[in-house]
Amino acid sequence: MEGRTAPHYPAAMINVTNRCNLKCRHCFVFREDNPNARKQEMDDETMLGEIRRIRDRHGIVAMLWMGGEPLLRPGVLREGVKLFSWNTITTNGTLDLLDLPGVTYVVSLDGPKEYNDSIRGKGSFDRVMKTLSRVPEDFSSKVMVQCVVTRQNEDLLEELVELLVPTRAEGMTFSFYVPPANDVSPLTWGTLTRRDKAVREALRLKKKHPDFIWNGTRQLELTLSENAPAITANCPSKKYVLPLYLDGGRFESPFCCYGDDVDCDLCGGWVVFYLAAKLEGAK
Ligand code: SF4
Ligand code: SF4
Repeated sequence: MEGRTAPHYPAAMINVTNRCNLKCRHCFVFREDNPNARKQEMDDETMLGEIRRIRDRHGIVAMLWMGGEPLLRPGVLREGVKLFSWNTITTNGTLDLLDLPGVTYVVSLDGPKEYNDSIRGKGSFDRVMKTLSRVPEDFSSKVMVQCVVTRQNEDLLEELVELLVPTRAEGMTFSFYVPPANDVSPLTWGTLTRRDKAVREALRLKKKHPDFIWNGTRQLELTLSENAPAITANCPSKKYVLPLYLDGGRFESPFCCYGDDVDCDLCGGWVVFYLAAKLEGAK
């Protein structure tokens, strides 16, 4: 009977493991002091059964697979992508990608080599470049890169784009840092007006590389301080995307896809403004 009353979500994001082969400084999933990273995880079959049940309960057709590092659960990914019409896999890009037809990989980079490695660990940028270089010509998944823009890397965006254009990545997106409540880290701009400089830089790069930058122009315009509050106050991601976090033997839903401790007023999450632009009818 539960299926009749469960809310409908066209999309979901799920972390299929809390384990990771990197230890990024900004990670909120994998930390050595995070007890979830050490909990016994469901085996593949149990997890797939649980995902199927959640899919049917909420009518989910699009899935974003994340971790930890989801490629550490290849059995779940191989079978799991067959359960949904649209599949996106986020990865740190340091492991070889599985060839999965129709799937889009989103490889995370924080900036050019020096900056990226200061966050993600020495050698991680080169490992991503190596992964990209090994994508075969006939690979049936799409591969793109996402950079989370912060106050610290906002002046490095063009350099990163120029490094990525010649690679096997078909495109890239910018997402803007989503701070936790009362964030005082050097990553946050603290106000939306201070963030505008970075958004305008992304708009300039969109104009320069219209096919390579996959953020829509309208999506970026909506991220500007004059537009963003009306969107985050009525967040489309919260309405349409079910977040599922792995807690040992079960999945839990936090407040939103960025967790429980978030500052909606300063949220710059890609998915929020992508959906807002789509709902407006922007291309
Ligand atoms: S790659 Fe992702 S999950 Fe792994 S440590 Fe870095 S931020 Fe965390
Ligand atoms: S922090 Fe979460 S709920 Fe708040 S605006 Fe961003 S995605 Fe929506």
